[in-house]
Amino acid sequence: MTYDVVCPICGRINRSLYLEETEGWMECEYCGNSTQDLSFRKMVRVPVIRMDQLKQAGMQLAAANA
Ligand SMILES: [Zn+2]
Repeated sequence: MTYDVVCPICGRINRSLYLEETEGWMECEYCGNSTQDLSFRKMVRVPVIRMDQLKQAGMQLAAANA
């Protein structure tokens, strides 16, 4: 899905932006300023922790405490 965003700096419309992929960040094609649409910040994905990564982190923690 793409979005049309009005640049808060210069007020021009940037069309067909992939805001979900950039977490709301866009670089205005007219004035070049980078801005973030804050409503997309909530959509930041929580990283999935796999069991093998957890075990590795535990081992590193144990080594650090030793
Ligand atoms: Zn702009």
